[in-house]
Amino acid sequence: MSRRIALLSNCLANQNAKVAEYEVCPGAVVPLLDLLRTAGFTIQQMPCPEMTFLGCSRWWQVREQYDTPGYRRHCRLVAGSVADVLERTCADGCDDLVLLGVDGSPSSGVTTTDHGTGWGGRPGAREVSLVAGKGVWIEVLEQVLRARGLPVPRVIGIGTELPGYAPVAEMARLAGFLGLAEVGGGGHAIDPERGRRILIVPDAALSQPGATAGFEAAGWGLLQLPPAGLSPEAAHLARDLVADQAEDYRRNGYRVAVLAGPESDLFARHMIDRGLAPFEVLAEGV
Ligand code: SF4
Repeated sequence: MSRRIALLSNCLANQNAKVAEYEVCPGAVVPLLDLLRTAGFTIQQMPCPEMTFLGCSRWWQVREQYDTPGYRRHCRLVAGSVADVLERTCADGCDDLVLLGVDGSPSSGVTTTDHGTGWGGRPGAREVSLVAGKGVWIEVLEQVLRARGLPVPRVIGIGTELPGYAPVAEMARLAGFLGLAEVGGGGHAIDPERGRRILIVPDAALSQPGATAGFEAAGWGLLQLPPAGLSPEAAHLARDLVADQAEDYRRNGYRVAVLAGPESDLFARHMIDRGLAPFEVLAEGV
């Protein structure tokens, strides 16, 4: 197993997680995944803290609205699951641990977040500004990793929520951060229309070049299942967080499928145990 680990903000592999109007492409940000794969990273996609709290129909909110004790408690629960996965993937040590946040986000910003006063009540135009600082989720995540004695990652904020997001320049900046001499394929077309298709994939498939290439090219977003080797409690929580997101997409009319394999059977059983219908199963190339 690679000893370079990348903690990935959920929406960088699945733009369906964004608040409406903030998508930059239909599904996965494919060149970004390709850079991580080229650099030999094991990718661990984190659950979206906002999706698992308010679902995919949530309104746009500023950092002040998310900075509540209840949301911080929710973030601690999700961060605990990320820490469980990291303990497993870093069990033999880790040469390089990176975190890809999303600058501009009230939750996932690492150098830039948003700020607004007087927000609340009926949604409408309000003043908002971008300010230096971390989103609520990133703050809590770093606290939880420290408390669990895990390494604190090097961070980069991908600017998909910043004005003037320029994919080619942003991928070049990421390539430099990852230590890649050459950028490769460059950027991606900006297409602010979500694909409304989500594929749930085994843990290893996200890091494996070509494993989901057909789905990625067709605009599917990816949701990663947890790795093997977690304790039963940790595996249960991690599957619950995937199921929470997937079920919310389904209830909002998105197409959700699972990539065929032994993990799809395990996940189907998990859904049934929760009293939920399993998802359709697809093979790559369908
Ligand atoms: S930036 Fe963070 S909170 Fe927002 S959609 Fe992406 S993963 Fe979710």
